[in-house]
Formats: sequence, C-alpha cells, structure tokens
Amino acid sequence: MSIKIDIHKCTGCGKCREVCPGSLLAEDSAGKTQIKYPKECWGCTSCVKECNFNAIQYYLGADMGGKGSFLYTKQEGQLLHWIIVAPDGSRQILTIDKRQANAY
Ligand code: SF4
Ligand code: SF4
Repeated sequence: MSIKIDIHKCTGCGKCREVCPGSLLAEDSAGKTQIKYPKECWGCTSCVKECNFNAIQYYLGADMGGKGSFLYTKQEGQLLHWIIVAPDGSRQILTIDKRQANAY
C-alpha cells in the first residue's frame, strides 16, 4: 500500500474518490474516505494532489529510496506544494506553479 488516509483529518469532501483512476477509494459509513483495495494502489498520487486537508499521506517505501518517508500536498492558489517528511521529522518542500506545469 502506498497511501494512508487519516480519518481524523478527512472531511469527506470526496475529491479523492472522484479522481482515483482505479476506483479504489470509497466512502465509509461515517462519510469519510477509505481505501478499498490497498494492494491495487499503484501510487499515481492523484488523490494526494486533490486532498486539501492533509489527510492523505503517500509513503515512499524502500523501493523508492524513502526508508519510511512520506509526502503530502498543500494547495495555495495556483501553487502546489509537495511536502516530503523524512523519518526524523525534517521536511523538504517542492513548489510547483500550476500555471507553468507544462514547463517542467
Ligand atoms: S480529498 Fe481528503 S478530505 Fe476529501 S474525502 Fe479525500 S481524504 Fe477526505
Ligand atoms: S495513489 Fe492513485 S491509484 Fe492509489 S488510491 Fe490514490 S488515486 Fe488511487
């Protein structure tokens, strides 16, 4: 599994469920989102980009050299911040201006 959803942060907005290309995310009985088939997730990060509540963490496993690091996103207008958190709690931030997305 490459993502984890924090149900305490999830507002149930449903944006992540709309974008998952594998329809792997579902609404639970409390109106929150859960991942139905975690082994099917291929880590496309679409849901991570849509969540404005820091409720979805994307885990960078050993196969990606992550050693347990995870990332999440934060939107700020047209800016999308990718925040990478290392196991020791240190953070790195990569900011993408969505208006220039085709330039990367
Ligand atoms: S986008 Fe985030 S807050 Fe909205 S339903 Fe998904 S996990 Fe919950
Ligand atoms: S990372 Fe992609 S495939 Fe995995 S749950 Fe999120 S949207 Fe679906």
